[in-house]
Formats: sequence, C-alpha cells, structure tokens
Amino acid sequence: MLEQLTPRVYHLRFSQTKDRPSLGYIRGDRFSLMVDAGNSPAHVQEFQAAVDEAGFRRPDLVALTHSHWDHCFGLSALDIPSIACVQTRQSLEMVSKLQWTPDELEKNAEKGIVPRLCVPRIRAHFPQLETIRVALPTLTFSESMTLDLGNCTCVLQHVTSPHARDTMIVWVKEERMVFLGDAVYQELVDDVWTERPEKLRKLVQELLPLDFTVCQPAHQRAMTKEELLTWFARRIQRAEEI
Ligand SMILES: [Zn+2]
Repeated sequence: MLEQLTPRVYHLRFSQTKDRPSLGYIRGDRFSLMVDAGNSPAHVQEFQAAVDEAGFRRPDLVALTHSHWDHCFGLSALDIPSIACVQTRQSLEMVSKLQWTPDELEKNAEKGIVPRLCVPRIRAHFPQLETIRVALPTLTFSESMTLDLGNCTCVLQHVTSPHARDTMIVWVKEERMVFLGDAVYQELVDDVWTERPEKLRKLVQELLPLDFTVCQPAHQRAMTKEELLTWFARRIQRAEEI
C-alpha cells in the first residue's frame, strides 16, 4: 500500500528484511515521477500494484538516487524513461558489463567490485543470477535538473554524500519535501560502514538552503528537517571525538 507523506507525495515503504528501499511516487497534475527503481522486478511489481490500488496513473518517469543494486535492479522491468546524474550513469555502465553467474559474483566480491555484504542479499533476490538485467538511465544531468510535473516542481540535485559519489536527491518544492535516497548513510568500505564527517558536513551545507519540512531517507522512517540536522550534528561530533 502507498503511504502518503504530503498532499502530492507518496511512497511504498522500505523493508529492512527484504533489502527494499522506499520507492517514491510524486503526483503532478500532468505527470508522475517514481523515485528509485527498486531492488528487483518483483519490487517494481509490488510498487505498481500499490499505485493501481491507490487509483493513480502509473509513473511516467523514474529518477535514480544512485547506482546501488537495491535502487536500480528493478529498472529493467520499467518501460518508462529514467533519469540519473552522470556519475550514476557511469557506475551503471560498469555494473552492466559484469557477468552475473555464481562464479563471476564470487570473483567480483573477491576483487571488491561487489561488496561481500551484498552477495547473499543479491542471491536471495535473484536465485537465478543470470536473470539480472542492468538497465541504463535514459537521461543524464550533471548538477541539477528541474521537472515540472504540473503544479508540482521536482528538483533533482546531485549532492555530496558520505555514502556514494553518485548521489542525487529529489526536492519536491511546493510540497517542501525531499527524497534523500541513501545520501544520509555511511560508506561501505571493505564491508565496514565508514563515517565521512567532511562529506557529511558538506551535505549539511547543501541541504540547509533547501526549503523543506519533511524528508524521506531510503531505509528508515520519514523525519523533519530539524531531526535530520540534529542526527547529522551528532554523527559529526562523534566522528570528531574519535
Ligand atoms: Zn546505497
């Protein structure tokens, strides 16, 4: 079921147990935008069923917050144009060249191309690894891109993030709402979640000027801007104490 976050913004809730990030649905008067393409075609189907159940039109476009598998491996099941920042396109081009077999996955984990932590998760969602299809985004931008969905403006903006270099957020201006993707999280380095206080500080500087009251990180409940900034400040302080 879609959960409503603001008058025009909905999402299919994240699931920690299923490695599923929140999938956004932004309802303009003329077009609808999906945020992130899910971890598998099954995830996309669940999203589409929720959109149908709500009586809404299927999304016309999808925006990818970054290239990680749980946000992109559903893309091949969507027949709509997709939008990503240049860095996400580059990363997905690399991922699309990988071979998806048990042996190759093992080798890629060995080389550090695929995080070891993700291997059992990917295998759980794709018992037949060979069925993985990595689709590439249709449209790319470098700094930011504005979409007018019909009385609903979405600004897709590349931001600095401790999590990944290819991170964009979706700011739904009139709704004063932001989809943060994984921008708020730490970076996975050799299977260890690693804090990047410098990048986190930059992210704070980039988010501060945006007018929003509610934000949705991909793997946890929505929070207010104030809660987000308090959480960041605590993390920066803790990292500096070490
Ligand atoms: Zn991620």
